[in-house]
Amino acid sequence: MNDKCKCGQRVYGYGDGIHEIWICYKCGRFTGKAGGDPDFSMIANNHPELIMVMIQEKMLTPIDKKDKYGR
Ligand SMILES: [Zn+2]
Repeated sequence: MNDKCKCGQRVYGYGDGIHEIWICYKCGRFTGKAGGDPDFSMIANNHPELIMVMIQEKMLTPIDKKDKYGR
């Protein structure tokens, strides 16, 4: 996964073990990996504000690149 946005800024990853979302806080662009869940891609595409809520609610937690999900 590329860790740079098209604008050159670093992107920050959040995930829950199945879904991943990568956000650029500079321009607001984000990319997601739905893990085969059509609902998640629908939410990411149509309701990006819910992604921010899921991060605030800790349903999605920051992905540390040095310590990927151990599976
Ligand atoms: Zn950007």
